[in-house]
Amino acid sequence: QLLAAPALPTLRGAVASLPSYVPGRRGTGADIAALASNESHYDPLPAAIAAVADAAGAMNRYPDSAAVELRERLARHLGVTPNEVAVGPGSVGVLQQIITGLCDAGDEVMFAWRSFEAYPILVELAGARPVRIPLDDAEGHDLDAMAAAVTDRTKVILLCTPNNPTGVPISHERVEAFLRSVPSNVLVVIDEAYVEYAEAGSGPDSLALYRRYPNVCILRTFSKAYGLAGLRVGYAVAAPAIAEGLRRTALPFSVSALAQKAAVASLDAGEEMEARVAAVRQERSRMAAQLEAQGWKLQPSQGNFLWIRAGEDLLARLVEAFDAAGVMVRAYQGDGVRITVADPISNDRVLRLLEAHAA
Ligand code: PMP
Repeated sequence: QLLAAPALPTLRGAVASLPSYVPGRRGTGADIAALASNESHYDPLPAAIAAVADAAGAMNRYPDSAAVELRERLARHLGVTPNEVAVGPGSVGVLQQIITGLCDAGDEVMFAWRSFEAYPILVELAGARPVRIPLDDAEGHDLDAMAAAVTDRTKVILLCTPNNPTGVPISHERVEAFLRSVPSNVLVVIDEAYVEYAEAGSGPDSLALYRRYPNVCILRTFSKAYGLAGLRVGYAVAAPAIAEGLRRTALPFSVSALAQKAAVASLDAGEEMEARVAAVRQERSRMAAQLEAQGWKLQPSQGNFLWIRAGEDLLARLVEAFDAAGVMVRAYQGDGVRITVADPISNDRVLRLLEAHAA
């Protein structure tokens, strides 16, 4: 005799219809090139490993929930005060704190599209409304269209510079003109996850803009150039009242002591990080030049990745070729493929694969 299954609790509507965040593929095996997640291909900085080893002996204890040492070190690094800094479990964690901290149901969060895949997910999860503004023809933010789309429900605007996945930055002047046109009660988040990889002057001087426009919030991470993606630590710089609110929306103890100590040690090892970043930039230029010579038309990227626009057919061919070669890259259905710039050997594999498909 079959019994009717008892009804289970239901997810709330926003969650039931939520698309999952699909991480970049890892692949398995010795010969895999992991170029799908814009991670650093370098081993962690020795100072960060030492800090983690040192902190591990106290992992029976909760971490400092207020992250005082890290916030003080960041404040010194950035020229702000610790009460303008909030840290969280990755910058995506901080962004969730921002959106849930500011948005009531039905409030609008605007961002360019395509951009970071987690944006619409976090917005929907908060019960807010994602407003996607298509990128312009040069794969950059269409700030005029964004300004024109502001309504009295707009609560947060996300500017991603350099933009993931296209690599295109927004110039300082354009961000400043945008800030002048946006009401001061809208929080403008400048997501600078890849800022360390950008050439000086290519993007906004976000700290200068923050000082002049207190509705600016700067979002950064230790996951990319600092190479701590696995430890989960990111931060925001915002007006003290906002930063304090973000700290209140955080889950208690969400940034581990290991992550806090490693982040402090990484800031202290800034020169080593910069040398690594310089090598990636050099590889980025080398790849861009070779791809151009092969016939690819690319927008210059300021991130640690390259963006190849590709319609359905080309994308399918590229995915097949990269998969067969064990080179993990990130495909965006209907739009293109994003390839992390890594060590020269992996990069050469990419160049050889793309040569076969150039126009
Ligand atoms: N912002 C952008 C633009 C990103 O690309 C990413 C990671 N892919 C993040 C934020 C989040 O990174 P994390 O949570 O590791 O700091």
